Amino acid sequence: MAAKSQPNIPKAKSLDGVTNDRTASQGQWGRAWEVDWFSLASVIFLLLFAPFIVYYFIMACDQYSCALTGPVVDIVTGHARLWDIWAKTPPITRKAAQLYTLWVTFQVLLYTSLPDFCHKFLPGYVGGIQEGAVTPAGVVNKYQINGLQAWLLTHLLWFANAHLLSWFSPTIIFDNWIPLLWCANILGYAVSTFAMVKGYFFPTSTRDCKFTGNFFYNYMMGVEFNPRIGKWFDFKLFFNGRPGIVAWTLINLSFAAKQRELHGHVTNAMVLVNVLQAIYVIDFFWNETWYLKTIDICHDHFGWYLGWGDCVWLPYLYTLQGLYLVYHPVQLSTPHAVGVLLLGLVGYYIFRVANHQKDLFRRTDGRCLIWGRKPKVIECSYTSADGQRHHSKLLVSGFWGVARHFNYVGDLMGSLAYCLACGGSHLLPYFYIIYMAILLTHRCLRDEHRCASKYGQDWERYTAAVPYRLLPGVF
Ligand code: NDP
Repeated sequence: MAAKSQPNIPKAKSLDGVTNDRTASQGQWGRAWEVDWFSLASVIFLLLFAPFIVYYFIMACDQYSCALTGPVVDIVTGHARLWDIWAKTPPITRKAAQLYTLWVTFQVLLYTSLPDFCHKFLPGYVGGIQEGAVTPAGVVNKYQINGLQAWLLTHLLWFANAHLLSWFSPTIIFDNWIPLLWCANILGYAVSTFAMVKGYFFPTSTRDCKFTGNFFYNYMMGVEFNPRIGKWFDFKLFFNGRPGIVAWTLINLSFAAKQRELHGHVTNAMVLVNVLQAIYVIDFFWNETWYLKTIDICHDHFGWYLGWGDCVWLPYLYTLQGLYLVYHPVQLSTPHAVGVLLLGLVGYYIFRVANHQKDLFRRTDGRCLIWGRKPKVIECSYTSADGQRHHSKLLVSGFWGVARHFNYVGDLMGSLAYCLACGGSHLLPYFYIIYMAILLTHRCLRDEHRCASKYGQDWERYTAAVPYRLLPGVF
């Protein structure tokens, strides 16, 4: 195993990512070294049930018009057996397999073979070759940032097909939705398994691998920090952004096309979901360089959580509102639609401005203005695994002075807006806000635990200056 055969790597427990020598604590950077029983139980639960949860939601739409309780009621009352439901589920098809292979190959080609040209003509856009954050082992990876270009070309092709070429129907994604689910699962499991094997036998950077004695935890949370093939094919950047997030807007467009085909028109709720989620997706690609500094890239290892999650969980569960609206063509009253739009836009504004403030602050090393003033700063320091001492700064102004993760609040407001666009008659479209609330609260706690270990007393000074995590006065 790579980590064991590396002569200059200390034993796992001492190769921690980072320590703060004021506290002499053993810090956390990335996932844990040791698995407590609760984490292990959660990991096994997710490995067993997450694929089933995705199947349940999609099947409930396909067979029960998105009534989440439908399958359970039918089984409990004896109207259906599990086998009946399974028998009605469309299997994988050759067409879906071909489509999916074509799709992923196309995205791989766009990612690896087309250097970014958008940054050459789009003012303010940062693309091309960019550096990521320093890894626990002190490595700084370079990335080819060309996600916006991939998104634009893919959508250009989609619209060219819809309006000129007619190679395929715009409803193609909806029409093959369940067969494509099986393909996405195959890729999700294949890539996670490959990443695990690669981590053990041919890792990209041995010093950035983490092992626990637990197979399930290693599989789920990943071994390698930044697995790569060749110089540029970075697993985390590729799978996080494409094919899942590029697909997000195409999936919504396909759902809108299906709604028109079935009901003769596209409802304002469908337009709102398409527009609000497209803003989020375009923002993601416009700020892909910023994304290199987020937790996904800076701290998470690449395992099933990211590999399978990006291939299956994201495209299938983040698009539930659009899917729901195909079965329930909700037309909102004008005040309701305006309310949803405002909530979505205000949420997006907070999300973007908060993230931008931190990014600007870190890029300029605090030499910037936040809300028109010189920012308040907490100086902090930490040591990476290679023994190097690093200095950093924590921002205490702007949204980062309101709460320690106010960027998550903006995200949650946007998420709620997508759900509210679907009206109030079913629970299914509200899955997203429930999931995001759990995800971001957990992420908040996870991040704070890590920051406390990383920065020690400096982090305590920050929490004293900004006492609330998400909502001032509440949490
Ligand atoms: P953050 O952007 O909040 O990054 C947290 C990191 O920022 C910390 O680990 C720390 O890193 C640094 N930091 C924390 N406080 C400060 C401060 N006061 N000043 C300067 N730096 C600070 O978290 P995420 O990466 O999780 O989220 C990025 C965005 O992505 C969020 O808006 C979130 O809502 C969104 N998101 C969306 C998801 C989705 O599925 N739709 C999933 C996850 C996130 P360091 O070690 O560098 O100090």
